Amino acid sequence: MNLRVSLWFEHRDLPAKSLEIYPDGMQGAIAGCLEAPGDIACRRFTMDGPPMAAADLDATDVLIWYGHLHHRAVDDRLVDLVWKRVLEGMGFITFHSGHFSKPFVRLMGTTGQLSYRAQPHEREVVWNVCPGHPIAQGIGEGFVIPQEEVYREFHDIAAPEELVFLSSFEGGEAFRSGCCWRRGAGRVFYFRWGHETCPTFHQPEVRRVLVNAVRWAAPVDRMAFEAGPRKPLDLRRDPTAEPTLVIGGSHPLKGVLDPKKYR
Ligand code: ZN
Repeated sequence: MNLRVSLWFEHRDLPAKSLEIYPDGMQGAIAGCLEAPGDIACRRFTMDGPPMAAADLDATDVLIWYGHLHHRAVDDRLVDLVWKRVLEGMGFITFHSGHFSKPFVRLMGTTGQLSYRAQPHEREVVWNVCPGHPIAQGIGEGFVIPQEEVYREFHDIAAPEELVFLSSFEGGEAFRSGCCWRRGAGRVFYFRWGHETCPTFHQPEVRRVLVNAVRWAAPVDRMAFEAGPRKPLDLRRDPTAEPTLVIGGSHPLKGVLDPKKYR
């Protein structure tokens, strides 16, 4: 079955230079990259298009969210729905200025603030610091992005459960550029690069990371868990055995100390 990816993008006030690089927006470039392998199906949502509804999220395995200038205009009811779906198992990926997006900030429980240097764009060295991680498959020791906006630490996120990429820049800045978390049953990935006037999403290594990340963030089979009051476990090896020792009051453990019965 196809992996179902939804891309929610602000897709508003895009600079002319960005549309030269990505005629269909970054959203189109990313959707094209994900659909290339043939087993990932993408649906696109934008801030000014039909709103994303609960039924759309129910039909989403991985949500890629991108916003830049209009985070505050996002309806908090949608943020609630996204947060709930992640806890239920939907994957969530955001990148670059998505660090300030409402769903990401909610999932982190932090401010999402970071330091940056907007100009000039510089060479970014992306180090693979978690070889063997599914998101780093095929990446080797790392890769270079020739021109990108510079971010630097500190980035106010929850401590990553897995740090996959670490970036350095010509000005000496460093940044945790590929971070993984689990929230409830869902997986969350943030990656740093993707300034809208840089051709980053045309780069093969970046496209490889995108596909890897979607596959990693996809829901996994997980034991359903039952919350609320429970009875003690019945640890008898032979449920028909008579109790030889009673522990506790209303829920005795039966037969556990009679070795003859359980050889
Ligand atoms: Zn940027």
